[in-house]
Amino acid sequence: MSNNLVIALSKGRILKETLPLLKSAGIEPLEDVSSSRKLIFDTTLDHIKIIVIRATDVPAYVQYGGADMGVTGKDVLMEHGADGLYEPLDLNIAKCKLMTAAKKGYQSPEGRLKVATKFVNLAKNYYASQGIQTDIIKLYGAMELAPILGLADEIVDIVDTGNTLRANGLEPREEIHHISTRLVVNRASMKMKHAQIQPIIEQLEKATRA
Ligand code: AMP
Repeated sequence: MSNNLVIALSKGRILKETLPLLKSAGIEPLEDVSSSRKLIFDTTLDHIKIIVIRATDVPAYVQYGGADMGVTGKDVLMEHGADGLYEPLDLNIAKCKLMTAAKKGYQSPEGRLKVATKFVNLAKNYYASQGIQTDIIKLYGAMELAPILGLADEIVDIVDTGNTLRANGLEPREEIHHISTRLVVNRASMKMKHAQIQPIIEQLEKATRA
């Protein structure tokens, strides 16, 4: 294994909040990651590269060693499963909730429930834990449309302010999990590159507490 380290960051909302934390650990990309079309970036530390990918792809890159470390949401990690990953740190950013939601005032049926979500595994497990049988419809976005158009009785989605739900005539129902952004590390990298990785975890921990 080389001494080089690859850190996988999630695009979008999480990225903006992650960069200042990395900066506190002395790691800064050499160009603007938000405006560039590049996917891999050199940083102020010669041996560290940053890749910027979809949050949902971060667990796979870290699990299979394409990246040594990664930053992604707890929702994504729970949906993907934690095989081959350490999760040493809660970065305490991009906090939100994973919730069920339905049309305002809608009485969900007693029997089988149609649920639209991109969190298929999480939704299945949650409703099963409540003793509710479900037909899950996998969507990749705009889940809020599904109850409105009769595709589903309920959705399982990320809620922050609740504005998106309200703007579409939906209301939050049950809270499934609190979500925040986590640091994950490839298990083999954690052993083989401990000397490089441990100080980064410590710096990030300090920055998170500050
Ligand atoms: P809000 O209208 O503030 O409840 O935001 C809800 C929308 O923003 C949903 O469609 C979510 O997918 C997205 N969202 C909010 N917070 C997060 C987060 N921390 N991570 C990822 N997506 C989020």
